[in-house]
Amino acid sequence: MEKMNKKVMEKIASAARLFFFLDYDGTLTPIVARPAMAKLALHHKLILLNLSKQKNTRMAIISGRGLEDIKHRVGIPGIIYAGNHGLEIEGIRMKGVHPSALAFKSIVKKLIHRLEHAYAFFPEVLVEDKTYSVSVHYRQAPEEKIDFLKMILLREVGDFLSNSQLVLAEGKKVWEIRPPTEWHKGRTALWLLGRVVSKAEKNVLPVYIGDDITDEDGFKAIKKNGITIRVTDKTSEPTEAQYGLHSSDEVFVFLKEVMKLRRENAL
Ligand SMILES: [Mg+2]
Repeated sequence: MEKMNKKVMEKIASAARLFFFLDYDGTLTPIVARPAMAKLALHHKLILLNLSKQKNTRMAIISGRGLEDIKHRVGIPGIIYAGNHGLEIEGIRMKGVHPSALAFKSIVKKLIHRLEHAYAFFPEVLVEDKTYSVSVHYRQAPEEKIDFLKMILLREVGDFLSNSQLVLAEGKKVWEIRPPTEWHKGRTALWLLGRVVSKAEKNVLPVYIGDDITDEDGFKAIKKNGITIRVTDKTSEPTEAQYGLHSSDEVFVFLKEVMKLRRENAL
């Protein structure tokens, strides 16, 4: 992973068309104690809004959050939103849910009920219903308790996991229980590129920015023909991303600079 440099900035600034794929938590907002607290700062929202309105620029937010949640949090019209790592997508003239996720809805309901019951005496655990998946957040739990909390989770979902009705994925202080589909952020980004970008629009440069394990699929999918950026303060961590930024604040400095350069280039 390299630092963002002038050469990359020039490439982005001079691309005929740009397609931004942006993660939300940890990328557009700092990581916070409870997911409900992750709010997009107003001045950052304005940067996103202005960037999305620039000529020859498209933007998609791809998040692990549920679609309604992420739409509400970002609140910018005219862009694409992909929730549940791309299982739900909504944009101009398109809205849909991945078929395998639809079938999963009733299992999620059952699971939410079970997990809320199992963690009833653990206020440090937050069970989040994302309609097509479940997140179990444990950021507020002390380190020594995590193994035990995971044991509880496995006790409740073990059966589903062993007969492949569900898969368990790990993120930053969160366990996610999802439908067993190969669909992920990377495939979502590629699908959107193929679907939204018409054949006439050649030379689209995709730019993928994310911070978590699930974004690695996005980096892998985009890096061959695009720019991939991981937001992290640990530069030694292995990643598929080509470039690094240190914080969500740096992401906005970068996006602002892109906007300025493209305005100067009149692109
Ligand atoms: Mg993230």
